[in-house]
Amino acid sequence: MCQDPNCIFCKIAAHEIPSTVVYEDDQVIAFDDLNPQAPVHTLVIPKAHYADIADDVPVETMGAMVHAVKEVAAKKDLTQGFRVISNKGADAGQTVMHFHMHVLGGKHLGEGLLPEE
Ligand code: AMP
Ligand code: ZN
Repeated sequence: MCQDPNCIFCKIAAHEIPSTVVYEDDQVIAFDDLNPQAPVHTLVIPKAHYADIADDVPVETMGAMVHAVKEVAAKKDLTQGFRVISNKGADAGQTVMHFHMHVLGGKHLGEGLLPEE
């Protein structure tokens, strides 16, 4: 497994830093965001280190990520829907440089993708 010793999400994937795990399999782990932006805010990450969604993530890993998103939605009872976001780079405001998908839900999120300016 490719790990970055300075990466906080690699440490979460290795259970070296505690997190509230929602779903886990051999390729991915999902855990609640420390600073939730919605009633449900869970992060899905590959256990292997990729900087972001554009970092040559293998298609099998992407499939495992999407499967995990659906598992999170089921476990969190997001029957009315949810939103998936993946920030890449400075313009998107990415702060943790380990590929992750935000799963947001538990309330009506509205139709706009971006906060009002
Ligand atoms: P992004 O801005 O897309 O890179 O998102 C990074 C997310 O990671 C933010 O929503 C943070 O609140 C979250 N985060 C950072 N450290 C932790 C942690 N130790 N456990 C859970 N979530 C974290
Ligand atoms: Zn990492």
